[in-house]
Amino acid sequence: MIPPRFDYVKPGGVAEAVSVLSESEEPKVLAGGQSLMPLLRFRLAYPDVVVDLGGLDELRGVRDEGDALWIGAMTTHYEVVRDPLIAAHAALIAQATGTVADPAVRHRGTIGGSLSHADPAGDLPAVALALDAEFLISGPDGDRAVPAAEFFADYLTTALEPEDVLTGVRVPKLDGWTFHYEKFTRTAQSWAVVGVAAAVRRDNGAVAEARVGLTNMGSTPIRARTVESAVAGVPAQRDALRRAADVADAESAPPSDVNAQADYRRHLSRVLTGRALAAAAGI
Ligand SMILES: Cc1cc2nc3c(=O)[nH]c(=O)nc-3n(C[C@H](O)[C@H](O)[C@H](O)COP(=O)(O)OP(=O)(O)OC[C@H]3O[C@@H](n4cnc5c(N)ncnc54)[C@H](O)[C@@H]3O)c2cc1C
Repeated sequence: MIPPRFDYVKPGGVAEAVSVLSESEEPKVLAGGQSLMPLLRFRLAYPDVVVDLGGLDELRGVRDEGDALWIGAMTTHYEVVRDPLIAAHAALIAQATGTVADPAVRHRGTIGGSLSHADPAGDLPAVALALDAEFLISGPDGDRAVPAAEFFADYLTTALEPEDVLTGVRVPKLDGWTFHYEKFTRTAQSWAVVGVAAAVRRDNGAVAEARVGLTNMGSTPIRARTVESAVAGVPAQRDALRRAADVADAESAPPSDVNAQADYRRHLSRVLTGRALAAAAGI
């Protein structure tokens, strides 16, 4: 279908973008367009103005900020997968991003677009939650940082206001931790039926600490804190981790849809969490 009519603005800076967004009644930010363009073409969104961030080079790239990495919102999935700083300090992001869609989508889609869109079936929100990322937002009242635990409010709904721009995310370096993203799909390159983002710190043959984020197990990404507690101190052995993963769905409220019923998703989340923890622990 042909999208509805809208004005198109390509600002020269973040301040100009926020100003245009603030002056509009029904504005929309455009990043890679991989989610927004289908919404427009299906006439599920009727913006009066589309603000294209494509010219804002200051929102691209990855910087080392000491104990954290800054990842610009307009950094594409393709760039994230290949970035050496992400590989060294936040490999979970690169691994999960490598499972997003197909190369064509990964060349256009951005990390900021994926997180702002906040599809609970998207792979990156659960990763951001597991890594305790901070969301850096510019709005009419200035800049603010929102922790991942407060960013994802509901289905496709975040702490972003219509006049806000997500400029980037700050991801704490988890040096000494190891990671795995386990994604269950019906067909190659499709959305997760369920996904599990796991980060593990091993100490002396046991899992000292773990972080677990779940994809497509509720209306938002889920931080699985019950399983994180259950796994702390458990020997880094496959059976022990599988048993600890039996509580992986404690915080979840999974949907039933054409891909899976809720109880099947609960089962999947337990199995996949056991696998993700084992793979992250290197066994
Ligand atoms: C065929 C296909 C398969 C896909 N499969 C997967 C998959 O398996 N896993 C997965 O995780 N994703 C998947 N996606 C989604 C993909 O990751 C998109 O890249 C992502 O959802 C949106 O990123 P984008 O940069 O294209 O954002 P856009 O489509 O441009 O924007 C998405 C939304 O976020 C808002 N937005 C974007 N950037 C900002 C910003 N900086 N500040 C404020 N608001 C912003 C927009 O206004 C819009 O509402 C798939 C997409 C397609 C088309």
